[in-house]
Amino acid sequence: MTQPQNDTDRLPDELIENLIRSLEHTKEEECTCDEVYAVVDQYVEAEFRGEDVQRLMPLIKQHMELCHNCCEEYEALLDILEKNDPA
Ligand SMILES: [Zn+2]
Repeated sequence: MTQPQNDTDRLPDELIENLIRSLEHTKEEECTCDEVYAVVDQYVEAEFRGEDVQRLMPLIKQHMELCHNCCEEYEALLDILEKNDPA
């Protein structure tokens, strides 16, 4: 007789719902991925020039730390800038 032993491995739906709800709740104060994508090239260039992006675009910076997708986009752009920089 074989019984599945992984019942405890599953996350209860309630917990997931609470997580999603708490994420949505904080969304209003943050910017969306679309907004970040719209300015990420300016953000990278500003940072590359040594400007204080955390002061200039704090919400973008904040989003970048939370959002893996946007962070990857940022790193890809930064990589391109660094490769194109003759110095
Ligand atoms: Zn994002």
